[in-house]
Amino acid sequence: MNVGSMFLGEDIIMSGNAKYHSTRGTLYLTNRRVAFVYEKRGIMSKNKYTPVNLPLDTISEVTVVGTGPFKKVSIYTYRDKLPTGLPRYEFKVHGPESWTLKIEKACSGSTPEKIVVPMKCHVCGTRIELAQTECPVCGAQLT
Ligand SMILES: [Zn+2]
Repeated sequence: MNVGSMFLGEDIIMSGNAKYHSTRGTLYLTNRRVAFVYEKRGIMSKNKYTPVNLPLDTISEVTVVGTGPFKKVSIYTYRDKLPTGLPRYEFKVHGPESWTLKIEKACSGSTPEKIVVPMKCHVCGTRIELAQTECPVCGAQLT
């Protein structure tokens, strides 16, 4: 299957056979989104839609649900970021645990800004970002 045009400019991190409800298709994880594509409906051509297209920044949580052969990857979305979407998508895939890990990793990697928790120097009280190992004011070691 040629998906080159669909994911132009994106890195495909993972792909594999999947089922969304009872529909067979292929699940893709790229550096920008999770997409589920039908195998037999000409989805690749222009003006056709992708049944599920989840930009990574709309994904709030990824978990494995079910047991044994019924395991699925369950993807929760932020409703306010995806107004037309569903709050949850479930895909039956091989190795749902590895999908979960990869999706989580891709989501965290796509976060544009790091969350910096400010702290205070224990000696002089200067507010410091966690990335530093020494206080820039008094030189105290920060642990
Ligand atoms: Zn200090």
